[in-house]
Amino acid sequence: MTQHILQASEELRGQRFIISGGGIGGAAGALALSLRGADVTLYERAPEFKEVGAGLQIGPHGVRMLEKWGLRDKVFEAGYLPERMQFRDAITTEPILTMDFDEDFQRHYGGRYLVIHRSDLLSILVEAAQKAGATLHNGVQVLGADTHADGVTVQIEHRADGTREDVEADILVAFDGIHSVFRGEIVRDEPVPSAYVAYRGTSELPGDPDMSGLKDVIGYIGPRCHFIQYPLRHGELLNQVAVFQSPRYLKALTEGTEVPDDWGNNEEFRTAFDHTHEFIQGRLGSMWLDTWWQMSDREPLDNWVVSDRIILMGDAAHPPLQYLASGAVMAMEDAECLALYASQAAAKGELDWPSVLAEVSGERAPRCARIQITGRFWGELWHVDGVSRLIRNETFRQAGRTSWYRYADWLWGYDAERREYLRDPAKGELPEELQEWEYQIHKIIARREGEAAPEELTI
Ligand SMILES: Cc1cc2nc3c(=O)[nH]c(=O)nc-3n(C[C@H](O)[C@H](O)[C@H](O)COP(=O)(O)OP(=O)(O)OC[C@H]3O[C@@H](n4cnc5c(N)ncnc54)[C@H](O)[C@@H]3O)c2cc1C
Repeated sequence: MTQHILQASEELRGQRFIISGGGIGGAAGALALSLRGADVTLYERAPEFKEVGAGLQIGPHGVRMLEKWGLRDKVFEAGYLPERMQFRDAITTEPILTMDFDEDFQRHYGGRYLVIHRSDLLSILVEAAQKAGATLHNGVQVLGADTHADGVTVQIEHRADGTREDVEADILVAFDGIHSVFRGEIVRDEPVPSAYVAYRGTSELPGDPDMSGLKDVIGYIGPRCHFIQYPLRHGELLNQVAVFQSPRYLKALTEGTEVPDDWGNNEEFRTAFDHTHEFIQGRLGSMWLDTWWQMSDREPLDNWVVSDRIILMGDAAHPPLQYLASGAVMAMEDAECLALYASQAAAKGELDWPSVLAEVSGERAPRCARIQITGRFWGELWHVDGVSRLIRNETFRQAGRTSWYRYADWLWGYDAERREYLRDPAKGELPEELQEWEYQIHKIIARREGEAAPEELTI
């Protein structure tokens, strides 16, 4: 199925947007709004547009949007189109679920499954946003904003010389990440650490004797850890991610002592995969050791509207755990949803910002809450031990033998145009199909043993 490409339009001509943050979300926002004719200025505090880390998986829910924005050729050229995703047991390496990204998949979801280097995707979005007319600044930090009857006054600081300035806009979109300046105006909350830490690494793929012929996304899932591999840049690079539960984090938490800052450090990494198959242990030598990512999310919010003129988006609104590989895609969905609903209202002559922001938040908050909640469950499922692991493996095998689409449709089949969460906000919970799995894997065992088995504890 070919996705229709959005023709540049003028519905938002004259509307001034400021976007705070130039990650994938902010850059996508600048593009989606500029394509509707808006006057967009983006401020990124870092001196350049840069993504830390390596690969990103972009499911068909993200690829359809990239195609809609006219970026199909560019992202396909820069990235890699895996043939399938396969989950394997991390102790035995036995495949337990294979999801083919074949023609039937493409027909079903109307898009491909893409893996791409983060910095490649960001560069493509930044360049496209500039081409569509947006103005993007580096080295400018957004300090705060005041809403007034006709718009918003945004305080910025030029980091090179510390000078400050007030700038006017109709709308401020806060795409400023998990430590957002504006989130605190809705809720006083903190990131929720998961006790899991990620190590990443890229290496040359073609000369790697163990990995020749890799065309897939492979996920080895095992007790308290997992290990992901996939090709990047036409198969020139191998992307690997090794994630494990930090024993020191857990110990501090259970004993009520102070959590050490460097939980998940190299010392822990060295033994974290000792219980997994020797193939995985043999792959860990190419992981970067100088940086590791302590993984956290935040509790879902049911409202993202800060004021009549300010809205949170991307990780600022809904930082997820990474298990459903949808954080960046959600940020792009937010961008497209805002641009779409605003331009539809403007086309009808009904552009009233408080109503548009409420509509966007009403659709997006339950959708993203569902992804955040399901992401936590999906991670738990990957990391179970003992009998739970055996049941999980059999559950995955069964899903593979029948049609697994029914477990993924809610995630990969989404289109903001349908306003499905506005019509039914109660969808914002664990999907029904996965509730069955939760029952089989956690509740049956818990009931059998009288209480939750310790190995199920993932925090
Ligand atoms: C290990 C791991 C694997 C992941 N894998 C995937 C995956 O496969 N697929 C997927 O879709 N997602 C994945 N994600 C999630 C994804 O990376 C994020 O959800 C996404 O990048 C968030 O984008 P964002 O633009 O909202 O926020 P960010 O990327 O955090 O960008 C925020 C930007 O705002 C800037 N900023 C902050 N404050 C200010 C300020 N006051 N003024 C100006 N600028 C400011 C920051 O410098 C930053 O550039 C993964 C995450 C992790 C940790």
